[in-house]
Amino acid sequence: MAKLDGEIAFITGATAGFGKATAKLFVAEGARVIASGRRTDRLEQLRSELGDKCLAITLDVRDRHAIEAAVSNLPDDFAEISILVNNAGLAIGRAPAWEADIDDWETMIDTNIKGVLYCTRAIMPGMVVRDRGHVINVASVAGNHYGPGGPVYGATKSFVTQFAMNTRGDLIGRNVRVTSISPGMSETEFDIVRTGDPDANFYEDFKAMTAADVAQVLLDVVTLPSHVNVNTLEVMPVAQTFGPRLVHRSPSSDS
Ligand code: NDP
Repeated sequence: MAKLDGEIAFITGATAGFGKATAKLFVAEGARVIASGRRTDRLEQLRSELGDKCLAITLDVRDRHAIEAAVSNLPDDFAEISILVNNAGLAIGRAPAWEADIDDWETMIDTNIKGVLYCTRAIMPGMVVRDRGHVINVASVAGNHYGPGGPVYGATKSFVTQFAMNTRGDLIGRNVRVTSISPGMSETEFDIVRTGDPDANFYEDFKAMTAADVAQVLLDVVTLPSHVNVNTLEVMPVAQTFGPRLVHRSPSSDS
């Protein structure tokens, strides 16, 4: 028997990176997958690759009403979602707080925070009624550690982790699991979106994680015995580690 037989997963941001790799792996392991994202052509491609076990829904996670409509109009064989992967997200720019574009901040907040809220609020009630489910929020190491030029991106990811933990507290007595996974550097389209440069190659000369690596971590977390809840999990490529002691030294500090 495949590891995810009988599971129905709703994955946001399935047109690229982690979401796409997770959709493929979950279908290979027997799940039915609702793959969502804004780029319909990519979703159609995924759907034709994965077949009937995949339902493709074009969706912008910033659109609360579209999410509510999509979830309430699912066909019967995809309706009882048992795994929600809140993965859609992005970083824009690398400017420090005093120079960044506020529109970029709003896009990150609307996507990374509100998208997670809307999807959770639309899908979790069914899990609670069925007393079965698992919500995974894809956060980031940037939500746990300082990263230069990402004051709002990192903060959106801290939100996602804390929201997961608060939700988990609310779910006491219910068989619904909640996990926040914080990946480190992974080679996806993330940096292309962040810089707006299609040739951006931040991942040269070191071995970053791949989308498939992160999908494997998600699979491992959802296939633990159903009474085991991974609360938070941070994963990095071995080549990445924490920042050095960061201090600004100046002669005037002697006085
Ligand atoms: P990609 O850019 O490869 O994929 C991002 C996905 O999010 C795409 O499928 C995109 O689909 C979707 N998305 C973006 N905005 C929206 C929106 N408004 N509505 C619906 N879908 C949206 O990046 P990753 O796979 O790397 O990123 C996935 C998640 O992992 C993000 O939350 C990211 O912050 C996080 N992360 C990534 C890390 C990395 O190093 N790569 C490290 C830590 C966390 P479309 O454009 O078609 O809508």
